[in-house]
Amino acid sequence: MALVAEPTRICRRCDKRKPWSEFYAKRRWPDGTTRNPHSYCIACWPAVQRENYARSAERRARRREYNRRYQEAVQADPERLALHNEGRRFRYRELNGVTRRARVVGRSRHLPAAPFAEWLRSLGLPLAEIERWLGLDGSHARRLLRGEQASVDLDVVDRACLAFGVSIDAIYGEDA
Ligand SMILES: [Zn+2]
Repeated sequence: MALVAEPTRICRRCDKRKPWSEFYAKRRWPDGTTRNPHSYCIACWPAVQRENYARSAERRARRREYNRRYQEAVQADPERLALHNEGRRFRYRELNGVTRRARVVGRSRHLPAAPFAEWLRSLGLPLAEIERWLGLDGSHARRLLRGEQASVDLDVVDRACLAFGVSIDAIYGEDA
């Protein structure tokens, strides 16, 4: 007989108390033994996966239904449709303005950093504010402001445009 009894836990699905060996490990110790078991026992595992999948399928269906009703409502209401289309035109113009200038670096798009840094400095905001608005960490924002960065990620410029309500033209000039 083992000196130390195997730990047990209650499965969240079948509510039965079972030894840890009847649960898959969530985390293991370096020697491979279970550190924490999952909440559901191995017997319940396939059913839990099926139920999770069904729930997420339901969520996707609800989302589709919501989008469909939203589209119907927008299409049926001339004022709402006009607003909706204006929003789309605005985004389209902004996107084109940005993409026209962006240089593709790998999977991300970059813009030259100098005009952006100059514009940022012209705001005269404390560094902490800039970090907060642009979602940058301190050293990144500092390097940008000091002109130590050659290029800036398009997403960062985009966030600045949105946060300060300016168009990309205000920073990079018309058709630069
Ligand atoms: Zn179970």
